Amino acid sequence: MDLEAALRQELETRKGAILGLCRDLIRIPTENPPGARYRDCAERLRVELETLGLPPEVIEVPGFSDHPRVNLLSIHGSEGPVVYFHGHYDVVPARDPEQFMPRERDGRLYGRGSADMKAALASMMYAVSLLKDRRGPLRGRIGVCLVADEETGGQGGSAYLDRIGRLGQDAIAMLTPEPTSGVVWNANRGAITLRVTVRGKSAHVGLQHQGINAFEGMLKAAAAVQGLKAEVEQRRTGYRILPEAAAGSILLLGGKVEGGTNFNVVPDACSFTLDRRFNPEETLDAEKERLFALFEEIRRRGIALDVDVLQEGAASGVPDDHPVARTLAQTIADVTGARPEFSMCPGLLETRWYARKGVPAFAYGPGLLELAHGPAESIEVESIFRHTIIYAMTAARLLA
Ligand SMILES: [Zn+2]
Repeated sequence: MDLEAALRQELETRKGAILGLCRDLIRIPTENPPGARYRDCAERLRVELETLGLPPEVIEVPGFSDHPRVNLLSIHGSEGPVVYFHGHYDVVPARDPEQFMPRERDGRLYGRGSADMKAALASMMYAVSLLKDRRGPLRGRIGVCLVADEETGGQGGSAYLDRIGRLGQDAIAMLTPEPTSGVVWNANRGAITLRVTVRGKSAHVGLQHQGINAFEGMLKAAAAVQGLKAEVEQRRTGYRILPEAAAGSILLLGGKVEGGTNFNVVPDACSFTLDRRFNPEETLDAEKERLFALFEEIRRRGIALDVDVLQEGAASGVPDDHPVARTLAQTIADVTGARPEFSMCPGLLETRWYARKGVPAFAYGPGLLELAHGPAESIEVESIFRHTIIYAMTAARLLA
């Protein structure tokens, strides 16, 4: 029997357990922010991995007393290079507590985290268990890395594992099951998100000559940033992205603007956000340096300002003809009957943690991006099983 048929046969006996795990995970409201119930969810994942014979190491992050940050790492196999399945178990906050009551209707499983990405975690874990129980000859190991905090930048998740040297050790490939709506994301934009606060001095309107107007300072600062915006937004990525109009590098100004206390008081502080989303052809360091040099220049013009970094992350990209990309695409074609398209993810992706070590990293998951984070988040049940097969076959082929 060929590999796919053997895996499918074995999967039949596990579909109930996979769905049971999906429902259990959805029931634990791991909302982030603030990072709730992580320990409970990590414990449920730990028990499942133990049961599957894939005992994980539980890695708790120091310094988070209110909401502990917990990550799980399980490596199957004794030696050789590692193919990583990497996913996050935190979810964006629910619109309604009902979202934590999993429901099935018309072949779909509904609930917060169904698409992004608790059901996909079950797919990955069972993919490894299918391969393990086949006892086929794998030339290498498979890692399952389950992290917290992805939705807020990864501080208590991937960033921590990376800092302690536990992320992507010996990796030859990484796959994360973000809801990609059928395409493979082989690249992602980087982000530098800042809050710029211009400082002034408060005074009553009648004595405004005694004050320093932070709003007027902010207008000048924002105008200077607009100059940079016009320049960087000329740059276009060579990676495929839909719609094509989205190919330009991005500098969004004023997503949130705050300041002042009343119409008759000189404002002593005004702030605006700046969200720089740069293409894989641009680097985090260079783009950050450019922004901070501009802020220095604005300060030299006599405008007092503070800059807070709200988040930052590198861009990354792997060519779609990379051998790992070809193996993944061929496997998807074999299982689904259609070759996937490659494109750039519009947001940040945890592939970046691996990519910057030179590991080819991709996102491909059973969910639909348009449903993730939404009020009616759901996933097609069959796609959970289909992806279990795709993940197992991809790892088997990469380690053949
Ligand atoms: Zn996600």
